[in-house]
Amino acid sequence: MRYKFCPLCGAELKDKEAGDDGAVPYCKECDRLWFDTFSSCSIVLVANEYNEIVLLRQGYMSDKYTSFVSGYIEPGESAEETALREVREEIGVTLDSLEYAGTYWFAKKELLMHGFIGRAKKCELTLSKEVDAAEWTPAKDVVKTLFPKAPGNAAYAIYEIFMEKLK
Ligand SMILES: [Zn+2]
Repeated sequence: MRYKFCPLCGAELKDKEAGDDGAVPYCKECDRLWFDTFSSCSIVLVANEYNEIVLLRQGYMSDKYTSFVSGYIEPGESAEETALREVREEIGVTLDSLEYAGTYWFAKKELLMHGFIGRAKKCELTLSKEVDAAEWTPAKDVVKTLFPKAPGNAAYAIYEIFMEKLK
């Protein structure tokens, strides 16, 4: 998001040259540059010892099992802390390990997604109210219901990394 007005004093911002960054919205009153902002989230492929992956069904996205656990990073959290917290909150699983699996830009939502692969022992899933349903799904079957490979589809990219590691 590009600022038009100062979030502190409400004055209209004027572009100011800021070195290598070029023209940046600037508040003269507050003597402050307002760089473009975006949201950040973590998204986690959760797999068990049988290489089954947790797929979530979330009605607002699709009636199929299309997604992995994900959530916005809160101020003060690292992407890793968000990943662990969201997995605990959404499906009631405590991960044994967490491995970084790249970052993905989701243009439609101006969202930088931090990808992870998490490992846990197979267990009953305890769902939060945000999740309509979730299932352990054999890794090879996951691709059948994921959204197609496309820029910004972090789930598919992380799934490819996971499958590559299984070879
Ligand atoms: Zn201001």
